Amino acid sequence: MKLEKLRVALDGPGGAGKSTVAKAVAAKTGLIYVDTGSLYRTVGLYMARHGIDAYDVEGIIAALPQVDIKLTYEDGKQCVSLCGEQIGDKIRTEEASYYASAVSKIPEVRAFLLDMQRSLGDAGGVIMDGRDIGTVIMPDAEIKVFMTATVEERARRRFREQQEKGIDVTFEDVLSSIIARDKQDSEREAAPLKAADDAIIFVNDGHTVETSAEHIIGLMQEYVAKNS
Ligand code: C5P
Repeated sequence: MKLEKLRVALDGPGGAGKSTVAKAVAAKTGLIYVDTGSLYRTVGLYMARHGIDAYDVEGIIAALPQVDIKLTYEDGKQCVSLCGEQIGDKIRTEEASYYASAVSKIPEVRAFLLDMQRSLGDAGGVIMDGRDIGTVIMPDAEIKVFMTATVEERARRRFREQQEKGIDVTFEDVLSSIIARDKQDSEREAAPLKAADDAIIFVNDGHTVETSAEHIIGLMQEYVAKNS
């Protein structure tokens, strides 16, 4: 097995740094980075724009056939379009996070996004981040990492990120939204946030993006050395 053909499943709670670390791993190894949270966020954005309440399950299910999501990759960067519009950072607001977490509880929404995610993993050479990648989307991934950090550490990071983007929020808002999302993501019935039995748990408090990425690349190299 070649390193550039590996499938890496990276799961964990919001704010653990999954996307930043996954991007760094992808840049260093040539894997394609697939951000699955963006799909739930895009479904959420569609519902918010159409005035459908985040908890109107029937309304959300009824609207799903109109949600036309396309993913493209340019220079290794994932671009998401919704009904023909490139949505960029419009899915990175607190409202979109809230909607994403709510819609992701609905089994019909998960089923709607399943094939798209599975087919991205099929060819290999991907690092995919999310909540259920190692358990549902790529259960036979060669590398499964469940990456987490304490709630305070995750809130600090997300707050810094939002500030850098000029988004006006308080630390308390970010902290309470992370606590609420953790609760929703881990208590839901459909594909709850949990580590796969064979995942390696990685608590990255005190780690930088660089050292976290190195840790994952180390696991990949170990796998290749053992399986070649
Ligand atoms: O990772 P991100 O914060 O962008 O994910 C947004 C939301 O989408 C999460 O709160 C989670 O509820 C949901 N999600 C999911 N399954 C995934 C990825 C994200 O349920 N594979």
